[in-house]
Amino acid sequence: MKNYWLSEYTSPDDEEMPEEEPSEEPEDEEEDQDDPESKLNPRQKMMYDQYESCVEMHGKFDQTAKGNGAHYAPAKANPFIKEGLVCSNCVFFMGGQACEIVAGKIEPNAICKLWIIPEELIQK
Ligand code: SF4
Repeated sequence: MKNYWLSEYTSPDDEEMPEEEPSEEPEDEEEDQDDPESKLNPRQKMMYDQYESCVEMHGKFDQTAKGNGAHYAPAKANPFIKEGLVCSNCVFFMGGQACEIVAGKIEPNAICKLWIIPEELIQK
């Protein structure tokens, strides 16, 4: 019996394939430096996409500390203001008193457990 693993078996995949046409699209789209998403690290970008998908599927988080909640802390209860951990630095903050993913009134100096803030805005 012939052992194809040890013989000179030629898989159809080994046959010469026509060369692929070079793509005309640029490999990397230029990132908009004014877009806060462009300042996120790879982990944060992944979290951003995941939270957006979650909200698309299940609706916005509420402000509670329960299963559907964002554990929102209003400005007066936010101990991290000096570090820059505030809603107004978060990529989900929409200005005014609104957030893309958390329901209700959102204060600019509040914070919640879902914050995604570019590292350059976090004070050491
Ligand atoms: S920290 Fe971000 S996600 Fe959380 S309520 Fe504030 S703006 Fe929304």
